Amino acid sequence: MTQKSGRRRYLYLAASFFFRLAVVVILLGGGVWWVLAHPETPIPSHWNPLRDLKVTAPITPVTKLQLNRALASEAQCRAALEDSGVRFEAMADLVVDQNCGIAGRGRLTKLVTSGIEDVETSCATALRLTMWEHHVVQPAARDLLGAYVSRLRHIGSYNCRPMRTAQGENSGWSSHARADSIDIVGVDTVDGRTLTLLSNWQGSGPEGAFFRRIWRGACGWFRVVLGPDFNRLHADHFHLQGPGWGYCG
Ligand SMILES: [Zn+2]
Repeated sequence: MTQKSGRRRYLYLAASFFFRLAVVVILLGGGVWWVLAHPETPIPSHWNPLRDLKVTAPITPVTKLQLNRALASEAQCRAALEDSGVRFEAMADLVVDQNCGIAGRGRLTKLVTSGIEDVETSCATALRLTMWEHHVVQPAARDLLGAYVSRLRHIGSYNCRPMRTAQGENSGWSSHARADSIDIVGVDTVDGRTLTLLSNWQGSGPEGAFFRRIWRGACGWFRVVLGPDFNRLHADHFHLQGPGWGYCG
């Protein structure tokens, strides 16, 4: 066999191998797609990336994908909240100027299990808060406090103001100027206790452990989480912010 024909034969074998591989990949991919997209698919919706987010479904590797899609679509966001029993009454968008306003605005009065002091916010913030309440706050309350949370206490979401830092006002605008954040100060429990960050954050008992667990757990649902350890401006609240540079502290 000459060197030239050996090379040709090699190229032929390689091409035929890749052609067969492509056929297999396309058939498999098409099959997977068909199984996922079929209306009577046996794949549970919380494992199916093509299905919409269900707030109360167990968390899977697909949940973040479904959540990101719901955060990007106001209609999907509102549907996800409504489907899980959250009360988020629709309001017209608030348009102020290029720095301030609320897109996907509504009045949030109840989460999945817990109530919340009425708050005007964006659907995206309401949805992140809902995921946190259901998947982090209530399980932590059950495990550490022996009672569910009946109400979240906060000091607001929307606030048209520049960013505040420990050194004073910063040139940028606060994420509160678009209702992309909410500040949580404490919780009430179904057995009549009121816990606040100011009174209970430092404690070595179950209340302190509860707050530290829900603070860490917030980082899974918000991109920026600032708590009492961050600086003195956050001594009394968790700043929970949807979009941002990614910080948990
Ligand atoms: Zn804040």
